[in-house]
Amino acid sequence: LDNIMQDCLAAPAVTKDNVAVEMLLNAGLSADTEIAINEFADGVGLYRTEVPFMLTESFPTESEQTERYKGILHTYQGKPVTMRTLDVGGDKQLPYFPIVEENPFLGWRGIRITLDHPEIFLVQIKAMLRASIGEDNLQIMLPMVSGLQEVDDAIRLIEQAYCEVHEQIRDTGQILREPKLGVMLEVPAALLLLPQLAQRVDFWSIGSNDLTQYLLAVDRNNPRVAGLFDSFHPAVLQALKFIIEQAKTHQVPVSLCGELAGDPLGAAVLLAMGYTKLSMNTYNIARIKFVIRHVNVAELKELLHQAYQLNSGAEVRALFSRYLEQQG
Ligand code: PEP
Ligand code: MG
Repeated sequence: LDNIMQDCLAAPAVTKDNVAVEMLLNAGLSADTEIAINEFADGVGLYRTEVPFMLTESFPTESEQTERYKGILHTYQGKPVTMRTLDVGGDKQLPYFPIVEENPFLGWRGIRITLDHPEIFLVQIKAMLRASIGEDNLQIMLPMVSGLQEVDDAIRLIEQAYCEVHEQIRDTGQILREPKLGVMLEVPAALLLLPQLAQRVDFWSIGSNDLTQYLLAVDRNNPRVAGLFDSFHPAVLQALKFIIEQAKTHQVPVSLCGELAGDPLGAAVLLAMGYTKLSMNTYNIARIKFVIRHVNVAELKELLHQAYQLNSGAEVRALFSRYLEQQG
């Protein structure tokens, strides 16, 4: 079985009709920097930096962060690593930074916290930049963006961090490159600002977990409404269709890093829409590669056309499920 898995991992992620898919990893724990799967991934599509913050007893220092980020950038040398700035709040708590709110998912979360605490943001960005010296594969991504002012404020702070690090290494001959900057598309408001976001950032990444939650007004962790949390819901599909169209119009690279990309049916739907950058947990890489290698995007597009006429996520899943079964 190990050999089969290995073959599957090593095979190119290309569909039967020759559509190549970029296979990216969602990472967070340092363990992800060591496992053998790295060589079969095209990079890291989402490095959840809050995970290491959760394992310490106080905010990690700039040099602690630098060391950790350096490790991951170095492991994926030559491949892009997208580091998301601290995304706490909501369901993610730091023991040394408690947030008590009645509605945490609609509250102080992600970029909202780090913009209110620029000292936390600046330390993190400086650590990322310092770690990137000599590696050249850092991309920075902002979580929970709901407005343009947030992006502009974050850009200003990133420029400040860049200047500070640049100044410190000025006489060393080292080169500090400007990283690409992206935003997560996970709050519906961001979807209505895509042209303006296209002018400000280099790439977009869809957080389908939060996008589903906020679009459908369904708490992603509440078992009582778990049956309503559905990334195949016709409204979510329309949102995903809209994003890929806007990405093409404005020529912005777009990936998807929510759970949907690591779900065989989700990956099939995304391929049908034209998505070619999928970021997922390491354990999903082999099976999604398998799906990619057994489908034909032209056929999937036909199915998608039918799917847009359906009334529920369950029907969409059944439609794609039948197709995948036929492909083995
Ligand atoms: C998402 O919201 O889909 C996402 C990838 O981010 P997280 O799950 O960390 O909120
Ligand atoms: Mg999210």
